[in-house]
Amino acid sequence: MNLADLPPGVTANALSIDVEDWFQVSAFAGAIAPTEWDRLPCRVERNVGSILDLLDEAGAHGTFFTLGWVAERYPGLVRAIAARGHEVASHGYAHQRASDQSPAEFLEDIRRAKAVLEDITGGSVTGYRAPSFSVGPGNAWAFDCIAAAGYRYSSSVYPIRHDHYGAPDSPRFAHEVCKGLVELPVATVRVLNRNWPAGGGGYFRLLPYRLSRWSLRRINGVDGRPAIFYFHPWEVDPEQPRVQGASAKARFRHYLNLDRMHARLGRLLHDFRWDRVDRVFGVHAWT
Ligand SMILES: [Zn+2]
Repeated sequence: MNLADLPPGVTANALSIDVEDWFQVSAFAGAIAPTEWDRLPCRVERNVGSILDLLDEAGAHGTFFTLGWVAERYPGLVRAIAARGHEVASHGYAHQRASDQSPAEFLEDIRRAKAVLEDITGGSVTGYRAPSFSVGPGNAWAFDCIAAAGYRYSSSVYPIRHDHYGAPDSPRFAHEVCKGLVELPVATVRVLNRNWPAGGGGYFRLLPYRLSRWSLRRINGVDGRPAIFYFHPWEVDPEQPRVQGASAKARFRHYLNLDRMHARLGRLLHDFRWDRVDRVFGVHAWT
């Protein structure tokens, strides 16, 4: 693609939802093995349902980076996402960090997810997001795999400093990472010579809402760029089962302010115009 093909200015920001269930989050991987997933009560279907209703009420659209594991068990959910005007994209199949896999294992996982999602929707899946933003300078080979699997864009880098992920020296905005593939990083705000998270995750629940609003306005106004924001279905579910055996820090981050998330998302959807990643960045017009 030619980066000059990116649409000029900011007409909307990009909303993204990483479709996975409460027992699949990376921070709990030490407490719950993937072999246990099938025995645990799934809540992703009802949680995505309430997000779809919230987006309908706000007249907003978004991109749902969906796990192949979830899509296989809930194909109707994937069809509902597409039927209600949203973009179906891939979050890989089994939610393993790219940085924990060999290139061959990683390629197999992201090809499998793409095939599952395309079988269900009958359309082409062009976007991919790595679990836990696990792509960075240490495993740039992953971009070659993402392109080889047939994706057109990745949103797998969070250019911040974080103990579990992050590539603080990576570019903050859209950039070509290998032939045929563009990375669209999650939003950061540049203050005091440092990138700060502005694109959601635990920070959105931890910090006052007005800080997120200020950051997004600054990205749109000062940088003149659209922002990418993300959250998870389990973040709108205060009644989800509590995971025992995880660290106190992981539990604090995961369960903090879940009961405030629905109202906070409502404000976010009201204060900005939101659309699918592929439309905000004009993916289909890329040459
Ligand atoms: Zn994830």
